Parts: sequence; structure tokens; C-alpha cells
Amino acid sequence: MNVAVIGGGYAGMAAAVTLAERRVPVTVFEAARTLGGRARRVEHRELALDNGLHILIGAFRETLRLMRLVGGNPERQLLRIPFTWKIHERFSLQSANLPSPLNLLAGLLAAHGISFAERLSAARFVLRMRRRDYTLSRDMGVAQLLDEEGQSPGISRLLWWPLCVSALNTRPEAASAQVFLRVLRDSLDADRAASDLLLPRTDLSALFPEPAAAYVKARGGAVLTGERVTAIDPGPDGYTVRSTAGERVFSHVICALPPYQVRAFLIGISALAEVAEAVDRLAYQPIYSVYLCYPQAFRLPAPMLGFDSALLQWAFDRGALCGQKGVVGLVISAQGAHEDLAQDELARLAHQELQQQLGPLPAPSWHRVIAEKRATFACIPGLKRPEPQTPLRNFLLAGDYTASDYPATLEAAVRSGVACARAIIGTA
Ligand SMILES: Cc1cc2nc3c(=O)[nH]c(=O)nc-3n(C[C@H](O)[C@H](O)[C@H](O)COP(=O)(O)OP(=O)(O)OC[C@H]3O[C@@H](n4cnc5c(N)ncnc54)[C@H](O)[C@@H]3O)c2cc1C
Repeated sequence: MNVAVIGGGYAGMAAAVTLAERRVPVTVFEAARTLGGRARRVEHRELALDNGLHILIGAFRETLRLMRLVGGNPERQLLRIPFTWKIHERFSLQSANLPSPLNLLAGLLAAHGISFAERLSAARFVLRMRRRDYTLSRDMGVAQLLDEEGQSPGISRLLWWPLCVSALNTRPEAASAQVFLRVLRDSLDADRAASDLLLPRTDLSALFPEPAAAYVKARGGAVLTGERVTAIDPGPDGYTVRSTAGERVFSHVICALPPYQVRAFLIGISALAEVAEAVDRLAYQPIYSVYLCYPQAFRLPAPMLGFDSALLQWAFDRGALCGQKGVVGLVISAQGAHEDLAQDELARLAHQELQQQLGPLPAPSWHRVIAEKRATFACIPGLKRPEPQTPLRNFLLAGDYTASDYPATLEAAVRSGVACARAIIGTA
């Protein structure tokens, strides 16, 4: 048995590590020179930025387990903060030091920025969803659910909507209430550590994909970067994988590509026509990351700050997190009018919004905007995501878009990779 893993993002590297752990021969093909895919390092002015600013949570159990397995130290590489939801000078909610669900309920009841009636109605909403085991008989939009559950525009705007956009990268009108409720269940209504926010203190390639590659190589596997796969041909002896460096035959293939790139490999194989159609049905949502460089002494009031503003959702203090003094990383999730702006204009508006929130600031000495137009699939109600097992024997799909309880996240990607590898090991 020898396995080709196509794609060296979090899903592909999780699959490769799981196979290498059992000494199954594995070769990872990654088109880019840097591992990590949509969660990778981007060099800029000798700084290690990320192509997207990421938040992990304590509930990302598989991601944390694999980080440890490959020699990482999540306690050092991630800043752990108890769940706090702070919209600058407008709203704050901190989970209480109590067992679940009292931690969240007490936090909601003590939240600042909304009336007592709104706090009570939010706590009741959580209790009602809990009684239904966070399961809806019919999926619907998040905004519709909140409306039906009597959540006021105030608490929706300051808590539920930003939570929805951050977790599902889809606007509340269009986002799946069922997936949103599962996220609430597994994070806010699980043990306290599950709801902790984990903020990377290192770049996202160094966080897992690179140590994962070292682990795979140390167990006899190969990780080929800068090697784009151009064709996968099924044959009687297995799969011929053609790449920019030649061709090799493998007994199994785990295709760990983003959905918009996996399609090209599926359409040529008749047994996979239905899978290709399922992938075709996915729509995408953007995430923009804006980095602004202020004087070194500049600090945000907290390592991570939320905003109730037109453009920005989150600001990260890269100085406090990873020693990049004066650098602020800003997140603009999901679709919006900002997509039509030139990058310089977007950076100017981001700086302006930051000033509106924090007061006068010096002009940034540089900016860098990274637009990921297809950052995640649009997590809409009733979405049928492709299963990792395909009708083609020994040909599996890994990636954040495959069937999962989770929206497109690092954890969904990692879990899918682990599941594919285990399916192969189980059939070995
Ligand atoms: C800006 C941004 C912000 C995000 N924020 C968060 C967050 O806060 N929290 C969170 O949990 N998630 C977040 N996500 C989502 C998360 O990054 C993704 O869910 C996850 O990285 C997907 O991993 P993957 O391995 O499934 O796919 P990918 O990361 O897309 O990996 C696929 C890999 O395949 C490679 N590839 C493509 N074609 C070929 C080919 N022909 N041959 C070989 N290799 C190929 C690509 O180069 C890539 O490395 C964010 C995503 C973005 C873009």
C-alpha cells in the first residue's frame, strides 16, 4: 500500500501524519512552496504574516491533538483566553468560571451593553436550544431563527450575528441555523476549555503543517512542495498521479484540495460525476485580511478586539501575539461592498475605521491587503456536502468542505484528513 495525498493544507497534512503514525507509506504533493494552503505563512518585509488571520477554539480537539503528536506545544504556540466577546466600548460578555452551561448563562446574564430583558431572552434562547439538543426539525437562516426566538436587534447585532459571521463566514440572513447551533453546542455549551479562544502566536505554517511534514519525513514518508498534480488516472494497478515532476502509481489517493480545485480531477472520472456535481453546487464567501503597520509602541487595548462597524469585524495585535510590534491585523469576513474597492482604498478605510473606534492614530507606514475571494464555502441551510468516501475504490476526499458537523474551519479540515487516513488504515 502506498498513499498519495494531494494538497498540503491542514486536511492533507492531518491525513499524512495519521498514515505516517502507522508507518503507512505516504507522499504529499503540494503545488505551493509553503505548506498550509488557506492557512499559510506569507512573507512581507521580512515579517511572517498569514494569508488569513485565524482564531481557533478549545473545541478544536483533533487539531490540538495532532499539533502535540508532531511535537508542537499548543500551550506555547497559542494564546488561550477564556471565552470573551468584546465589541469595543459597546458590548462585553465573559464566560463565568462555572461548569457548562452555567458558565455561558451566567456570562449572558452579566453581559454589558444590552438591557436586562435582552440578556434574559438570550439566556432563555440558549436553554430552549439546549432542550432541543441544538437540533432543528427544519434548517433555516440564522437571522430567521433569531427572529423566531425573539432575539432583539441589539443582542443579534452585538453577539449572535458576529458569532455567526466569525464561525460560518456567511451572513446571518443566508447562514445555516443548524450548523450555527452545532457550533454553539460544541463550543459555548461544552466544558469551559472548549469555549476558550486560541490565538496563534506563530505563523500558520509553523503552527502545524511544517512540523507535520518533519514528522512524516522522519517516518519514511515524502512531502513534495512546489509540485503541482496535473492528472490522476485510475487504472487496474491503482492510480497514476501525474505532477510537474513526473508520474507515479499509488494504491490509494486522498484528494485534499480546495473544492474549487478538486473539481478538475473529478469531472474526468465517470464514477465521480455525482461528486463533481455536489462540489459544483457549493458557493463561496470571501475573507479579507488587512495588515497596517503603526509605530512600534502602538498597542491595541487587547490582543483581539471586536468592532460593531461598517467594515471591520476583528483586530489582532500582532505585537502582543507574535512580537510584530506595531502591526495590527484586521479581518473583514463574508461578502460586502468592500469587495469592489481597490486594496489601497480598503486599507485607507480600515485605518479610518480603526481611528473611529480607538481615537486618532498616526498614518500606517505600510499596509498589506490579502483577499481570499473563496476563503470558505457559503454555509447555507440544508447544504449537502460531499462525503469523504467516493464511489471510486481507494479514492477519498479530504477538506473543510466535506461532510461534517463543522463549518469550513481548520478543525473540519483536520478531522476530514484523519477520517480519510483511518478509513485507509481500517481497510489495510
Ligand atoms: C482568510 C481566511 C481566514 C480564515 N479564518 C479561519 C479561522 O479563523 N478559523 C478557522 O478554523 N478557519 C479559518 N479559515 C478556514 C481555514 O483556513 C480552512 O478551512 C482550512 O485551511 C482548509 O484546509 P484544507 O486543507 O481543507 O484546504 P486548503 O488549505 O485549501 O489546502 C489545499 C492545498 O492544496 C494545494 N493544491 C491545490 N491544487 C493543487 C494541485 N493541483 N497539486 C498539489 N497541490 C494543490 C493548495 O496549494 C493547498 O495547499 C479561514 C480561511 C481563510 C482563507
